[in-house]
Amino acid sequence: MQLANATHDQLIAWESALSADYAAIKAQGLNLDLTRGKPSSEQLDLADALDGILKGDYLSPGGVDTRNYGGLDGIPEAKALGEAIMGVPAKQVMPAGNSSLTLMYQWLTAAHFFGLTGPDSAWHKTSAVKFLCPVPGYDRHFAICEQLGIEMITVPMNSDGPLMDEVERLVQSDPAIKGIWCVPKYSNPSGVIYSEETVKRMAKLAKIAGPDFRIFWDNAYAIHDLSFPGPQLTSLWEACLAEGTQDSALQFASTSKITHAGSGVAFVAASDANLKGFQKILGIQTIGPDKVNQLRHIRFFDAPGSLLAHMKKHAELLKPRFACVLKHLEEAFSDNPLGRWESADGGYFISFDTLPGLAKTVVKLAGEAGVKLTPAGATYPYGQDPSDSNIRIAPSVPSVPQVDAAMQVFVTCVKLASVRQALTQRMAQS
Ligand code: PMP
Repeated sequence: MQLANATHDQLIAWESALSADYAAIKAQGLNLDLTRGKPSSEQLDLADALDGILKGDYLSPGGVDTRNYGGLDGIPEAKALGEAIMGVPAKQVMPAGNSSLTLMYQWLTAAHFFGLTGPDSAWHKTSAVKFLCPVPGYDRHFAICEQLGIEMITVPMNSDGPLMDEVERLVQSDPAIKGIWCVPKYSNPSGVIYSEETVKRMAKLAKIAGPDFRIFWDNAYAIHDLSFPGPQLTSLWEACLAEGTQDSALQFASTSKITHAGSGVAFVAASDANLKGFQKILGIQTIGPDKVNQLRHIRFFDAPGSLLAHMKKHAELLKPRFACVLKHLEEAFSDNPLGRWESADGGYFISFDTLPGLAKTVVKLAGEAGVKLTPAGATYPYGQDPSDSNIRIAPSVPSVPQVDAAMQVFVTCVKLASVRQALTQRMAQS
């Protein structure tokens, strides 16, 4: 379908054929969902042995009675699990509660209101606080900034990470910029993996921005490869050590998409100074994390190689769903400019771009035909995609036949919206 070269009559014919397809789909009364990147129930089943795994033995290998209060810093063996996932030395890892998003919120509020290195370092003491947000990005990161009144400045993503020239220029020119959100591996939603050069330039940012600058390195998909061995992300920790900027790096991960989402273990990895500053603030909020759950996870991944073997089982379930999405996109759009997409060999998302100005229409059309998509704009701060083109496709939850049905609807909606736009534009020109 080449809209630019099509005659008016061709466009009319396509519009009426696609409208008929769309009406037929609508009549099926579908109820499908490609919205959030959650594990499917089969993926969750993979970790069901967590239930009852302790068999009444609540002592950690190091002798901690995990049933009791305390242990703000997490149990040591859980630190080792954090190291296995994040690739940061266990000593720098703090295992925490069930959600890395909660941890990010806590670290951000700690830095903002109380200061990670003493009260004078609290960001709110400066006149305005701003954050860099590579786009498209993770809506929940943006929601945290929005709730705290932190102004968000967007930076475009390249195929090797955020546009670092722009990041450096902005940080240099505006001291109110206190941080940046990053999903460095299988970025949500674009699937990008930050290159070695990007990571190394990230590690240098604090030298430009100053000591209160923090990189929120949300490594949510650190080991979530679809093929093995998966690509290696350059270590931000090592890069920061080389620059002497380790206080600028706050790294997050969790087992939400490894074991049970919602009752997994979250981790933060940070410098000694950051951990000390944070725990002082955290100690007011809690007497300690859920160490019983930390112990359950240690036992679950006790056997050497078990973590990797487990991730391979996830990949087996995810791969056909991703392949199905890509098959539909390739069939529909590989020979025309109606859609562009990016998909990595891991993570949870496929990022799709319609022609400018059509994402909202496509999401609406799909919704009315029984296929729920993430709201258009969600991948941008304040929900505003300036070109109204990005749609995040999350195929992990539906079964393969459901993904197949949903994608038939999706491509029909994209084509229909594109043809209708072309017709409107033609009419405006004539
Ligand atoms: N970060 C990213 C980039 C995510 O995609 C998600 C889940 N969609 C999270 C964090 C949430 O992680 P958690 O369950 O550990 O809070």
